Amino acid sequence: MPTFNITTLGCQMNQADSLKLAAGLEKLGWQSVEKNESANLFVINTCSVRQHAEDRAYSQLGRLRKQKLSGEELHIAVMGCMVGPKTDQLSKRFPYVDAWARPQEFDPILNLAETIKDPSEGDLGSLSALLDGGMTRTYALPAGISAYVPVVHGCDKFCTYCIVPLRRGRERSRPVADVLDEINWLADRGIREVTLLGQTVEAYGHDLAEHPSLATLFRAIEKIEGISRVRFLTSYPKDMTNAIIDSVAECEKVCEHFNIPVQSGSNSMLKRMRRGYMVEEFVERVERIRLKMPNAAIATDVIVGCPGETEEEFQETLNLLRQIQFDTIHVAAYSPRPGTFAERKMIDDVPSEIKKQRLHLVEEIHQESSLNINQKMLNEEVEVLVESANETQATGRTKLGTIVHFKSSNDVKIGNVEKIKITQTTAWSLKGHIANSLSLSVI
Ligand code: SF4
Repeated sequence: MPTFNITTLGCQMNQADSLKLAAGLEKLGWQSVEKNESANLFVINTCSVRQHAEDRAYSQLGRLRKQKLSGEELHIAVMGCMVGPKTDQLSKRFPYVDAWARPQEFDPILNLAETIKDPSEGDLGSLSALLDGGMTRTYALPAGISAYVPVVHGCDKFCTYCIVPLRRGRERSRPVADVLDEINWLADRGIREVTLLGQTVEAYGHDLAEHPSLATLFRAIEKIEGISRVRFLTSYPKDMTNAIIDSVAECEKVCEHFNIPVQSGSNSMLKRMRRGYMVEEFVERVERIRLKMPNAAIATDVIVGCPGETEEEFQETLNLLRQIQFDTIHVAAYSPRPGTFAERKMIDDVPSEIKKQRLHLVEEIHQESSLNINQKMLNEEVEVLVESANETQATGRTKLGTIVHFKSSNDVKIGNVEKIKITQTTAWSLKGHIANSLSLSVI
């Protein structure tokens, strides 16, 4: 049986795409192997959101090139956000790559796989279409209890620094029935937690005839037996309606865990980023969430050192982060992405040393705020969905997404919800023990 390995870089959307591709390859008779094993086909699913992610892909390609030159019989395919309109330039630069595929475009790799198996085959056309039904789903091949379910692809927002709309295209929502069908399929195979994905997940349904919304999905998934938790990301403040916020509060299974990138706490910077909202509007959305769900966990993303970011603008960001007290802050330093408005029209004028200092200051605030939030959990009892367990140790997450490590026992099973008493806290996780011996099985 021919073998393949997929390295996935970047976001959850890429992870979902990799699972789809893996499902397609397995349907064609291929077997997945670990990265360090030899394989007939290596696929790198790339990310272009930051230079650092691209550099990681280049280093993987360099490693595979060496293997190929040393005589190993292997094929290489590159997919994802690095593969844009200029594939010709890429194939000149990396002539040893056998196939290139844009995000969501599986045919070039499936075709390559078929021709490796049988070199007499020519272009087999749309294999993804042949596999339809399979390929529109993640087919998470449930090894665990959680699965990603993309519900809306692409993005219409065109923030000046962001390459996503250029690589993943405009917003396209999947029909409600298709999403529900997939989640039922996953539930039947042991999946207990689904994460609904979209670059701006609240944009779900805008482009569908009946204009369903994310709230429509939440209320329908609520009724699916076997699914105990629903997560969703990534949020965009302007699309986050009161109806969606209220549905999170009302639906038992939907986790009160929001991922809302603010990117900057300065209105002038937000304007240059073309984020489409003011700081005051962002704060108002957070207030609405906390009014409805006082304990909601709120994570955010921040970019430091965008073109023209002054010290004053950066201080405004720090002030906002202190004011809101986010549970999690994902921070990145700006790097120009080819083809974006910022790369073409703006000057990357914040020195890298300053970017590093700003990054560090945001990280310090993150550590402080998550430690404060986690400390409040001391001596509390929380419900933890178990993700891994052996005879002595188990790990899972609370509904709010916090990692909890606790002492295991024979009764602790992956997929169960355990009530855990918290005895220790750090900025990044909680520790505890089972509050009572009874397992709160949700299956
Ligand atoms: S909302 Fe802005 S940052 Fe997010 S994916 Fe769309 S363009 Fe990129």
